[in-house]
Amino acid sequence: MNIRHHPDESLLLAYAGGASDEAIGLIIATHMVFCAQCRRSVALMEKIGGGLLDTLPAAPLSAAARDALLARLDEPAPAPARLPPSRDGTPGVLRPYLGGDLSDVRWRRMGPSLAYKPLFKRDGISAKLLRGAPGTEVGHHTHRGQESTLVLSGGFSDITGSYGPGDLQIADGNLRHSPIADPGEDCINLAVTTAPLKFENLIQKIAGPLFGF
Ligand SMILES: [Zn+2]
Repeated sequence: MNIRHHPDESLLLAYAGGASDEAIGLIIATHMVFCAQCRRSVALMEKIGGGLLDTLPAAPLSAAARDALLARLDEPAPAPARLPPSRDGTPGVLRPYLGGDLSDVRWRRMGPSLAYKPLFKRDGISAKLLRGAPGTEVGHHTHRGQESTLVLSGGFSDITGSYGPGDLQIADGNLRHSPIADPGEDCINLAVTTAPLKFENLIQKIAGPLFGF
């Protein structure tokens, strides 16, 4: 697959070190389903990280830390999500959040050509799916926080370029853009936002918060 837009190294390092926020971790893991290059990078970082840990002198655990560790070992492992195999190629890391396949998602409509599906929101960071019919324009907006968008199917374009399946866009407060869904099939994105978007159009200003943007 021809991936043009990757997470930068600091994001991959945080992911490899287990330091990613859950929503950012989900978007990186989903990108890696599409991207062999980033899978290789993360595998290498994990190997180097493990090697560094081996060189550190072993520090004795305090009694309290040891008890906490032993207590955790006694906890039952979380039950794996029992989902039947995907019928439409939905990335496995995403399926527990959807409760199944992309083709089973019950979308919430906003207008004739846009739909969304909230996944979760924790510590002010929200993850959702967005779906736009071909040619849909989202509307000019800037960002209070950071908006990360991973294309799952279809594609979109804006002033920064074109994005297809597996491509990741990270937009911050400096970017003002109006993504337009490419012609052809619906554009479905996994979107993670750290703060509500700032829309310029009045209707969107009113509707945005209602829809959880
Ligand atoms: Zn990549």
